[in-house]
Amino acid sequence: MGKITINVNTLDIEVESGVSVFEAITKRQFPYLDMKIPSIYYLKGVVDVDDSGVCIAEVDGEIVNASRVRVKEGMKVVTKSPALYEARREALKKILKIHNRDCNGCVRCNSCELQELFHEYDFTDEPQLPKENLEEIDLSSKVLVRDNNKCIRCKRCINVCAKMQAVSAIACTGEGLDAVIAPASPAGLAAASCVNCGQCVAVCPVGALSEKDQTDLVREALDDPSKYVVVQVAPAVRAALGENFEFNIGVDVEGRIADALRHLGFDKVFDTKFGADLTIMEEANELLERIQNDGVLPMITSCCPGWIKYAEHFYPDMLENISTCKSPHQMQGAIIKSYIAEKEGIAKENIVTVSVMPCTAKKFERLRDDENGAGVPDVDIVITTNELERLIKDREVRFEAMHHKAKFDEPLGFGTGAGVIFGATGGVMEAALRTAVEKLTGEELENPEFTEVRGMKGIKEASYDVNGTTVRVAAVSGLANANQLLTKVKAGEADYQFIEIMACPGGCVNGGGQPHQPAQTRLVTNVPAERASALYRNDDNAQIRKSHENPSVQALYDDYLGVPGSERAHELLHTTYRPR
Ligand code: SF4
Ligand code: SF4
Ligand code: SF4
Repeated sequence: MGKITINVNTLDIEVESGVSVFEAITKRQFPYLDMKIPSIYYLKGVVDVDDSGVCIAEVDGEIVNASRVRVKEGMKVVTKSPALYEARREALKKILKIHNRDCNGCVRCNSCELQELFHEYDFTDEPQLPKENLEEIDLSSKVLVRDNNKCIRCKRCINVCAKMQAVSAIACTGEGLDAVIAPASPAGLAAASCVNCGQCVAVCPVGALSEKDQTDLVREALDDPSKYVVVQVAPAVRAALGENFEFNIGVDVEGRIADALRHLGFDKVFDTKFGADLTIMEEANELLERIQNDGVLPMITSCCPGWIKYAEHFYPDMLENISTCKSPHQMQGAIIKSYIAEKEGIAKENIVTVSVMPCTAKKFERLRDDENGAGVPDVDIVITTNELERLIKDREVRFEAMHHKAKFDEPLGFGTGAGVIFGATGGVMEAALRTAVEKLTGEELENPEFTEVRGMKGIKEASYDVNGTTVRVAAVSGLANANQLLTKVKAGEADYQFIEIMACPGGCVNGGGQPHQPAQTRLVTNVPAERASALYRNDDNAQIRKSHENPSVQALYDDYLGVPGSERAHELLHTTYRPR
C-alpha cells in the first residue's frame, strides 16, 4: 500500500492510502500531538464500520462518518471543533437512553470504552435508567452474565461469535439503537451451543457481557480456617495481569503474582506450568502410542475446553481424535487432591483448589463429567485474570510493591520453559514436539525451538523428519479456523498426525478472562503477540526447557504415578467426551 498526504488540523501528514480516515489518523501516532477521532463500535477485524455517531470528522468542510470515508490525496480533515463536539455529544446522549450508566457497580468500571467517552464529553450526573425500564439480567449461563441494560448495540459480540468462532450463539434483529441483541436460542446462551470461550466478553466495549464473578467464593474459602486453600496460576496470566496495574502490555509479572497470592492468604501457591509439563508427559506418550500402534490419527490436543465443547457440538464424529488428557489445571487439581493431600496429611475434602485462568471456558470445564480424579472435584473454583485483579484490589494488596522475583511453592510450583509457552498458540505443539521427538529418536535435541508453529497466524502447518518418519502437524487458533482445517481433514484434503486447537485467536494470551484493551490500542498494538512474546522470553530464560526434564514431574512419576499412561495416571489425569 502506498503513501499519500492529507492535511489534518492544518498539518500535512503522510498516511497509508486506501484506509478509512479514522484508521489513517488513529494509526499515525505522534509523540507530541494527540490528534484522535473517537470510536465506540469499531474494533479491528471485528466491526470495521462505526455507525455510533461518535466516529466523525470534518472532511473538506463536511461532517462525515470517519470510518466509512477513505483517505484521498490532499484531503482536509478536522478532528476537533465545536460542531464535532456537539454532534458527538448528541450521539452519546442517544446511547445514554439505552445504556444503564451504573459505573460504580459495574465490573468494567475503569476499563469501559464508553465511560471514557462520557468523561471526555462532560457527562457527569446523568441518572441511571428508570427501574421499570430495566430488563432482567441473564444469568442462565454457567459462565457468562448478559446485562442487556448496558448493551449499546455495537454488534462486536455477534461478529466475533459468528465470524471468528463459527458458533453464532448470539443473534441480532433490527437496526441501530433499536436492534435486539439476544442468544440465538430463546432458552438462553447454553442452549444456543455457546462454547463459553468468552471472546464476546473480550470484545464488548462495555459491561454488557462479563464472566460470572466467583471472587466471593475465594474470599469465603480464605476466611474459613478449616479449609486448606491451594491456588494455581495458568501461564498466560503472568503475561497480562500487569496491564490491570499500569504495567506495559507484554510485561511478565510472574514473581509479583506468586507474592500477591501469598499476601492474599493462600496456603499453597502453585504454578500451572507444572500441570502443563505433566500434560506433555501424558500427551506425548499418547501420541507415540497412537503412531506406533495404528491408533486414531490425527490426534488433537485437549487442553482447551472451548474447543472441546465446540467439538462435542459440531464434530461429534471426531471425538476419538481428541487426546484423552485433561487440561493442565484439571490434572494439577487432581494431583493436589491425591498426591499433595497424602504428602501433607490433609483430608482431600478439606482442600479447596482455586485456578486463576485467562479463560472463561474453564469455569464450565471444572463442572464436566469425569473431572474428579481423586473422587472429589479436581478444581473447586475458577477465577479469571480480571477476577484476580478485583481480589487483589479488594484485599488492598499493592501489586506494584510485590517482589518481582518471588517463587511459587514446591513441588507443584516448578515448571519448564515448555510449560510456560502453553499460553500462546502453537505452544502446546512445540512443547509436545520437544518431548516426542527426543523420545522417538532417543537423542537430545540440539535446539528445542520449533519456530514454524510460533506466531499469530490462525493456521500454521509444519512437517518434521523424525527418524525417517515424516510427522505432519498443524496449530490452529480461533474456532472458525479450526472449522476450516477440520473440514479439509474430513474431506481427505489435508493429512496430519497431530493438531493443536485453541479456541481463542492467538491462544490463551487472548482468552476471554484477560484484561481489556480499548479498540484504539488494539488498532496499533498486536496485544496477543506482545503477551506471547513475554511467554517466549520466559521460556528463553528458563534453566530447563523440556517437560520430561522437570525434576518435580519426574519425582511425581517415581513416587506416585509410575509411568506415563499408567493405570493411576489414567484414573487421575485422563477424561472422556460426549456428543451434545
Ligand atoms: S462465549 Fe464464545 S461461543 Fe459463547 S456467545 Fe460468546 S463468543 Fe459465542
Ligand atoms: S453485548 Fe456488548 S459487544 Fe454485544 S452488542 Fe452489546 S455492547 Fe456490543
Ligand atoms: S484458548 Fe485458552 S483461554 Fe481460550 S477457551 Fe481455550 S483454554 Fe480458554
